[in-house]
Amino acid sequence: MKIIGLSCDLKCLNLGLDLIKDFNKDQINIGHLELGKYPVELDKLPEENYKLQRNFIEKLKRIAPLMSTSVHFSSKAKWGHKEKRIRRIWLNEIRGLMEICQYCGVKWINIHLGQKSKKQSREDYLKKASESLREIISWKYNVAISIETSYQSETQEGDEVGIYFDDFWFIHQNVPEIFFTIDIGHNLISGESFWKYLCLLEKGMIISLHCHDNDGFCEHGKRGDPHRAVGEGITNWLEVKRFLGSKNIILIAENRDIIASEISLIKLHEIFIEGRI
Ligand SMILES: [Zn+2]
Repeated sequence: MKIIGLSCDLKCLNLGLDLIKDFNKDQINIGHLELGKYPVELDKLPEENYKLQRNFIEKLKRIAPLMSTSVHFSSKAKWGHKEKRIRRIWLNEIRGLMEICQYCGVKWINIHLGQKSKKQSREDYLKKASESLREIISWKYNVAISIETSYQSETQEGDEVGIYFDDFWFIHQNVPEIFFTIDIGHNLISGESFWKYLCLLEKGMIISLHCHDNDGFCEHGKRGDPHRAVGEGITNWLEVKRFLGSKNIILIAENRDIIASEISLIKLHEIFIEGRI
């Protein structure tokens, strides 16, 4: 079965919840909400940030018992950083969030593998990231972890890890409890075919798809990853449908604004639920 979901930042959460209600009234079931991002990434004073974190947790506590949910963790986390001290900061952050997620019944936390410095080897980063992930699994919270496919932005200083299948295969072999999320738009920018992930899909390790569209290249500046509505780029959605086959999966509309989200939800429903493509 395919379930359609919506990704929403804290600042547009009320609009997102209204959108889900409207769709459900029209018999288009939106069955999942991914709330992002924790810790809240805004350039604010510590006191202001603390308030935002509290707000995030309060909202999560209210919504999670009512519907299927996941949380998008900050993409700034560096799980394989060469310094243990830095890895520990992120481990402490996610442990606090996992407490809340378990309490509320949140199904999974979505993470990125993070960026390595030019000096660190990819293998060393992946080994250290696997250690971090093994520690997270050892806490035995009833909350899954999913790693999302990423891409190298031209404005990044370091090297993004978790772009290519080999990185995910490494993690799968070292920490088999970890799930994965394919971000269709990111894969289009990196040029990595989602077909490479078929073995992980068949093993039931792909938990969700992040669905947005682009022109398949990363431009300079802020428009590098425009998160356009489904159908407003060059993604071959028929190919995505073929790839998924009859597998159970949650397709999450992850867009730049609420209007693009609305278009994506309609399109995803047409393609994957009604079969109109
Ligand atoms: Zn994504």
